[in-house]
Amino acid sequence: MVNLKQQVRSLAIARGFHAVRFASVGHTPTQDAFDEWMKKGFHGDLSWMEKNRDVRSDPRARMPSARTAVALGVPYDHARPPDPGGRTGLVARYAWGRDYHNLVGKALKKLSRDLREQGLSVWGGIDTAPILERAWASEAGLGVTGKSCVQFIPGRTSWMFLAVLFVDAEIEPDPRVQSDHCGTCTRCLTACPTKAYTGPFSLDARRCIAYWTIESRELAPRELRAGFGRWSFGCDVCQEVCPHNHDPDEPVHPDLRPRTPYLDLDAIVQSTDEALLEQFRGTPLRRPGAAGLKRNALITLGNLGDADALEFTAMARTHASPVVRGAAAWAEGRLGRRPTWSGNDLDVVREELAAFDRGEVPSSL
Ligand code: SF4
Ligand code: SF4
Repeated sequence: MVNLKQQVRSLAIARGFHAVRFASVGHTPTQDAFDEWMKKGFHGDLSWMEKNRDVRSDPRARMPSARTAVALGVPYDHARPPDPGGRTGLVARYAWGRDYHNLVGKALKKLSRDLREQGLSVWGGIDTAPILERAWASEAGLGVTGKSCVQFIPGRTSWMFLAVLFVDAEIEPDPRVQSDHCGTCTRCLTACPTKAYTGPFSLDARRCIAYWTIESRELAPRELRAGFGRWSFGCDVCQEVCPHNHDPDEPVHPDLRPRTPYLDLDAIVQSTDEALLEQFRGTPLRRPGAAGLKRNALITLGNLGDADALEFTAMARTHASPVVRGAAAWAEGRLGRRPTWSGNDLDVVREELAAFDRGEVPSSL
């Protein structure tokens, strides 16, 4: 049994996984808390989370022979490169390099093949599969879930991609990380710029910057937008303030090294949609689509308070997407100019104009 454990660990490390831990398979730990979270609607429009509940709550619904969960971690902690300043927006660390869905997904596929060659049956995935990967990581002792709802290895890092593989062999489980590693700390809860936490371990995604700048195709509620500050793609605040994160101590995969830690906002607004998608091919930045990237860039331009950006917000007025035009209207209001649309524009733009006239768009200048 020990040999198989060592063998699986060695194969995983050879495929680029730094952390490899094991747990016995049963009902998914924390499924009840996940159900509660969904019941409150905190997942917003992420309706794919509502599917495959049976598998999420017990992996044996997909793979009846599953006996052991192999929890895997790939670090992506890299110091933020120097700030170029000017009209640039911040990108969350996970998206600085190649799309981890490709990188980690491919590594997982290769590892699955290796394990099958050893005679094991295997099923698993990353965050796109119906698997509560944080729950299995905690169960296997690969860190703990903090009050921030982010998984971290105490004293080391929370900058880590997670993956889980289920195998049909009984492998000795690793011990869970004992004791509470958050203690009295509440830094993440209080630092969140949009007050997305309803309490410890409780995140309302509908108030999270990551949700609105990556997952959603809509324009975020007006009252949240100023809180986005300079974040143009995701947000790292709850992890940056966590005392368990230190200077990176592990080399990251070359493909995860920073390529786009900052976004040139003027360039994004000026670019054609096609060129934008081409520019970010193979990176997570394509996820919100070209319109989503422009929407995000316009909100950041509004928040930066540089009136010279009005030249670029004006360019976005003619964009085909009402979400982009609405973001441009809001940004103009933030930059102190009443948007000048008139006539038959779609509701989203009219709403921004009305909000400006009601004084609901505070100037950033
Ligand atoms: S990612 Fe940012 S907005 Fe979302 S919960 Fe963390 S601090 Fe709040
Ligand atoms: S910032 Fe503090 S409370 Fe939040 S996850 Fe880290 S240790 Fe826990």
